[in-house]
Amino acid sequence: MTAGGVNAHFPARYWHALDDGRLQCDLCPRNCKLHEGQRGLCFVRKCEQGRMVLTTYGRSSGFCVDPIEKKPLNHFYPGSSVLSFGTAGCNLACRFCQNWDISKSREFDRLCDQASPEQIAASAARLGSASVAFTYNDPVIFLEYAVDTATACHARGIKTVAVTAGYVHGKAREDFFPAWMPSTWI
Ligand code: SF4
Repeated sequence: MTAGGVNAHFPARYWHALDDGRLQCDLCPRNCKLHEGQRGLCFVRKCEQGRMVLTTYGRSSGFCVDPIEKKPLNHFYPGSSVLSFGTAGCNLACRFCQNWDISKSREFDRLCDQASPEQIAASAARLGSASVAFTYNDPVIFLEYAVDTATACHARGIKTVAVTAGYVHGKAREDFFPAWMPSTWI
């Protein structure tokens, strides 16, 4: 993947300012309250110059083409391939996480490939993948990037699979899940 559409200061949605000057993130039930320069528990949403930003827009921890049968899906385009990708960080803290080096990564600059939503969709088409999976870490925490990527995929007729715990507040949930309606989530 090459650079393009990459933004470590992408304006984040779902937050509000508190009376004490901190910002509260309203994306997931962690409700992180951040001073200037602080990051939330997920590590990817940050209080920067008085606003909330998503630091992983267009940045990935890696890509892999898998047989769709590796995913816990039932008769979802059997025999096809899926382009899997994730970012870094997570809003969960499972002690048994098998992707802990990604979900708890604190070294984005070394870890990340760069890819815009359109580049991911184009790569999936070029590789002959019927679908793109948002996996390795929970796509809820990079919602703005995930939704834009799902939209770009659907425009090319490519299905999308969200591997998520669904740990997300109501308003964000209303924006996140409909983006997958033509496809599926697990
Ligand atoms: S998405 Fe991240 S910053 Fe926002 S409340 Fe959840 S863990 Fe905290």
